[in-house]
Amino acid sequence: MSKVYCSINNCHYWKEENLCGANEIIVTSDSLGETAPDSFDAPLHQQFQSTPAASCMETCCKTFVEKGSGKEKEDGVMKS
Ligand code: SF4
Repeated sequence: MSKVYCSINNCHYWKEENLCGANEIIVTSDSLGETAPDSFDAPLHQQFQSTPAASCMETCCKTFVEKGSGKEKEDGVMKS
């Protein structure tokens, strides 16, 4: 994956120097991120509908999972 820089340091995939350590991520709209289950994530990217956004405020990293939440395996994403 290309380098993805991220400052969300309580994410399971976050690494030192503000790097994302996931092997894949998906960015989508806030509205989809709020309603889709945790299992609907980057490995299923071809099933995502298009979600236009008017600004960065309407987008989110769907792959975020809180470190220590116990939900780290639900998205099917691996640490690289
Ligand atoms: S999965 Fe998303 S929130 Fe988590 S470190 Fe990567 S880019 Fe940041």
